[in-house]
Amino acid sequence: MSFDLSTLTIPESGPYWLKRARVPTCFMATTVAEAVADGDGTVLLDLLIEEGAIGRIVASGTIAASQPPSVDMAGRHVWPTLVDMHAHLDKCHVIPRSNPDGTFTGGRVGTVRDRKFWSYDDLYRRMSFGLRCAYAHGVSAIRTHLDSHEGLAERGWAVFRDLRDEWAGRIELQAVALVPIDAFRGDYGVWLADLVEQSGGVLGGVTRAAGKDHVGTLADTDVLLDTVLRLAADRGLDVDLHVDESDDLEAFSLPRVAAAVMRNQFANRVVCDHCVNLALQPEDVAGRTIELCAEAALSVVTLPTPMVYLQDRASGRTPRWRGVTLLHELRSAGIPVAVAGDNCRDTWYAYGDHDMVDTFQQAVRIFHLDHPLIDVPAVVGPVPSEMIRAPSHGRVAVGGPARLMLFAARTINELLSRPQADRIVLHRGRRLRDRLPDYEELDDLMSAPISAVEVEEAAG
Ligand SMILES: [Zn+2]
Repeated sequence: MSFDLSTLTIPESGPYWLKRARVPTCFMATTVAEAVADGDGTVLLDLLIEEGAIGRIVASGTIAASQPPSVDMAGRHVWPTLVDMHAHLDKCHVIPRSNPDGTFTGGRVGTVRDRKFWSYDDLYRRMSFGLRCAYAHGVSAIRTHLDSHEGLAERGWAVFRDLRDEWAGRIELQAVALVPIDAFRGDYGVWLADLVEQSGGVLGGVTRAAGKDHVGTLADTDVLLDTVLRLAADRGLDVDLHVDESDDLEAFSLPRVAAAVMRNQFANRVVCDHCVNLALQPEDVAGRTIELCAEAALSVVTLPTPMVYLQDRASGRTPRWRGVTLLHELRSAGIPVAVAGDNCRDTWYAYGDHDMVDTFQQAVRIFHLDHPLIDVPAVVGPVPSEMIRAPSHGRVAVGGPARLMLFAARTINELLSRPQADRIVLHRGRRLRDRLPDYEELDDLMSAPISAVEVEEAAG
């Protein structure tokens, strides 16, 4: 008889064994005696689920327990819930009222236009929608960036704090202040750093000019980076920066970030997001930069799905460039590289559903992360959970929470080859019944579409 995930019965109460579960070892906090990894780097395990946690982990078949009851996974994949360490929940789900053209400039201008709708209610409902999608898909930790411009920051951070409380225990929610780095030139930077500290957030920014075209380096980039790092150090904050999100070779700030971290002897974590023009730099420049990043102990998060959508786009022309960073070279230099989702149904990326399984599947293809696939799932589990200090997520550990995803797939190839829409998500060991929210719920917020003419006016 073949295995049928849809008929799997998860006990609604009491402890149970999840038997013959196939788990990639890269998700395991510790090795399990007698568990032998296969060619995919996965092991066959029995997991005792009790009181919402994983009580015991043993190699499959080493305990002939008849009690408590068991659920037989028959060698199918079991993963921990995943980490989306780079999202923009404040921007998401505005497609019906925006008019994206898929370009970087269109993304920026469209966001500027859309912000006029960002009341507390509008932000709260769209961010909640995104969280519900993520939760139903098996994401349990999210770091979102929040547009933190003057006049907007207070509202966005208030919504974030309320949602962080509301979702505590289901999704661990973190936030990063996102402003053009030149916003740190005056008193506003101090005010914003204080708000971030009071809100338990992370300090961030975009390392490029906020000028009309959002291109070109700033003469005082180094001074501004020093300011950001000093504000963060004084408050004990980590830093998470949008870096080099373009094909503009001149606007290359990654080596400046690395140099600033070392110059300031900044001791907290610095994550650099995107870093896509690193892939276009001459080999020697790229190599030296990667060495600098390793020396500065930087981490990198890559957001492949929106970059493939956004970079190298011109109407009527086929893109020639993948638009992503040098993931393999960065990893070879010992730099942690995580994969995350980024934008979702907004003017920067028109698609997506806050689903890290989908992001992982696309990343494998875009980056050639396969052949072999051993340890590859770590890029959406333990690697980002370490980077954002959320160690209980994206891992399978004795004593850890029973937040798991059950798949019908027997191999990573099978897991990568279907959408996994039938996956079962366990929360505290019980089957999650939450369904994906219906788009119609947001219809009343979408009643005022922005016309192409308005976008053009804003760009001009
Ligand atoms: Zn981003």
